[in-house]
Amino acid sequence: MTNQLHIIEVAIPLYLEKTFHYLVPERLQHEALTGRRALVPFGNRKLTGYILGKATGSGITNLKEILEILDSESLWTTGELEFFRWTASYYQHPLGEVIRTALPTGINIQTRKGTTGEEAVLTGGKTARREKFYLPGPVVDPPRQPSAKASEILAVIREAGNISAGELRKRFGVCTPQLKRLVELGLSKAEEREVYRDPFKNSIVKRDEPRRLHTHQKAALDAITGSLDGQQFTPFLLYGVTGSGKTEVYLQAISHALELGKNALVLVPEIALTPQLTGRFQARFGGGIAILHSGLSDGERYDEWRRIRRGLARIVIGARSAIFAPLEEIGIIIVDEEHESSFKQSDGLRYNARDLTLVRGRMEQAAVVLGSATPSVTSVYAAEQGRLTLLELPERVEGRPMPVVELVSMKGIKGTISTTLSACLEETYKQGRQAIVFLNRRGFATFLVCADCAKPLICPNCSVTLTYHRQRGQSLCHYCDYAVPAPGTCPSCSGTTLSELGAGTEKLEHDLKELLPSARVVRMDSDTTSGKGSHERLLSRMSDGSADILVGTQMIAKGHDFPEVTLVGVVNAEASLGMPDFRAAERTFQLLSQVIGRAGRGEIPGRVVVQAIDTEHYAISSAAEHDATRFYREELEFRREAGYPPFTFLAAFAISGLSEQTVSEQADSTVLTLARLKSELRVRVEILGPAPSPIYRLRNRFRRQILLKAVNRSDLHRLLTSWRQQATVVSTVRITVDIDPVDMM
Ligand code: ADP
Ligand code: ZN
Repeated sequence: MTNQLHIIEVAIPLYLEKTFHYLVPERLQHEALTGRRALVPFGNRKLTGYILGKATGSGITNLKEILEILDSESLWTTGELEFFRWTASYYQHPLGEVIRTALPTGINIQTRKGTTGEEAVLTGGKTARREKFYLPGPVVDPPRQPSAKASEILAVIREAGNISAGELRKRFGVCTPQLKRLVELGLSKAEEREVYRDPFKNSIVKRDEPRRLHTHQKAALDAITGSLDGQQFTPFLLYGVTGSGKTEVYLQAISHALELGKNALVLVPEIALTPQLTGRFQARFGGGIAILHSGLSDGERYDEWRRIRRGLARIVIGARSAIFAPLEEIGIIIVDEEHESSFKQSDGLRYNARDLTLVRGRMEQAAVVLGSATPSVTSVYAAEQGRLTLLELPERVEGRPMPVVELVSMKGIKGTISTTLSACLEETYKQGRQAIVFLNRRGFATFLVCADCAKPLICPNCSVTLTYHRQRGQSLCHYCDYAVPAPGTCPSCSGTTLSELGAGTEKLEHDLKELLPSARVVRMDSDTTSGKGSHERLLSRMSDGSADILVGTQMIAKGHDFPEVTLVGVVNAEASLGMPDFRAAERTFQLLSQVIGRAGRGEIPGRVVVQAIDTEHYAISSAAEHDATRFYREELEFRREAGYPPFTFLAAFAISGLSEQTVSEQADSTVLTLARLKSELRVRVEILGPAPSPIYRLRNRFRRQILLKAVNRSDLHRLLTSWRQQATVVSTVRITVDIDPVDMM
């Protein structure tokens, strides 16, 4: 029987632990099935499943048949499937869900209703896009001349050599009749082409040449190329201050990998994925680069994915999800700004792309380079332990000095701008130079407080204060977008005097304009950058000199190089210290160091004023003194004593629901189950909680959390695995388990 009927193993993208077996009907048996999607009957539904391979399912009866094969080629390689399986097991997540996350969204969009067309069936989702292009035709001098508009269009076609209909429409408006006429006369010919939506469109980049490396860069590059030549998995920590030439090392290391016939994967935080950065890669390597980021439409993303799958891109640059790029023969993986928390996905499959590069790198026998000016505490510790090879770039290129930093105590001082900072701002402005002022909080006031009953305005859906946005005339919840007209009245006592407490970037912008009325101030935070391209527009105002002062949140801290910025001001340096999170000091140190590094990137030395109430805090003072060694020493001591990573491994349970009572009961019973399993399995795991989450109510849902801590990762894994097999969860409550959690709010 098994000679005729294949049995296959299928993963279903649902929250189901196991995979399923199906029969392949005769008519589909000639196809190589592994790595493709199939339409399968599931209960009384039809679902898309992922075919993992042949199943050795002897003795299984009553199997259902798959209905259709949805792809004409395999979507993943055997190596990629191994990586997906590893990821599923490590993050305790269903394999089908992992595969769904790894594939581009565009592929999952089922445009088909029934079986409409061959093409649609074969590609399964978004189809390849075809577009009409116009080229010069065979006729040069026709018997009859075209109209004036048609002649103009023809001139453009001739100059361009070939141009898409869409582009012509953009320039000439409706021009179908003219184009038709040009084709009739033989002056132009039309051609259909498959187009890949090109993320580089409209950008023209000058080629550049590799720089001559300075001593430290050379040493770092040699170590990396050495490992590339040996084709052995080697993880590096490239620790270099901002402007020390890390990117140049990446570029030359990639170049070496390409020469060896290998490909390169580059991960950067979403926010750093600017045309500035991608332009540098394009300038060095020309074509063959694929870009993956959240700004792409599903179609564009799918196109990039297909280009990579077909081997048309040898360098993939992308944000977090690019860790799943279908790139083969990977020689080198680079993670720039490896300390960034945005490499962690915060919902669904809660993976950390930075961590996964080490796994994929090992599977591919690749070199992995984790680069940062302010590495994560975990990486610094791993380097101390010899698990990462440390490569240091301790100096800025051309020996530019680090900026001089002045710490200003704001104890007992009102207002956003100290006299020191205002004097520096005035001086910088008079000199015609630029300044950046950083405050990691958006809005006008942090919140409004009623003068009568002293209660702050809070969100009715979330347990957080509403932020006052003066320009919008609203008090706004930064978590659920709940908004009320502001200043308004107090919802508790109907009092009409609401006073502002704490300052945000909007207020800072206002104060700066008051201080220097003729200065051109631009603000960059998530309120001013929501429109497409607005981010770029604001930045270009700094680079073309049409702005004097840039005010902003952490958005302005990274990735941009403004040679004319000679002054950096930091307002309320401890804004991020108050978070109930064991990484608060690490984040504060990193952020401050990054902002400080923005000053004096050009010829003129930079100056920095840091305002803080607690100027003595080690995260603030060590950043101001450029003393990273001290910071990491103190922070590691704290982590060791408190039993936090890198000395322990964590898993966080988040339990949420609309009824506080049910959530609380579920949390209690979950802890009991965990405690029972812990003693049955005899694993050493500390169970903390349940406790209300720091934001105990979010979008109307009540939230509890349980934290598991273990010195030994396999103990933690065993406990979680057995909990998942036994868990009973009330249907109105949601439980998520986050392995190596980053955000525990
Ligand atoms: P990082 O990535 O560490 O911030 P970059 O690689 O961007 O540093 O280097 C900072 C600046 O110095 C860039 O403008 C870069 O082109 C330039 N640069 C880097 N290495 C060299 C070198 N060896 N010689 C001259 N200029 C260099
Ligand atoms: Zn809210």
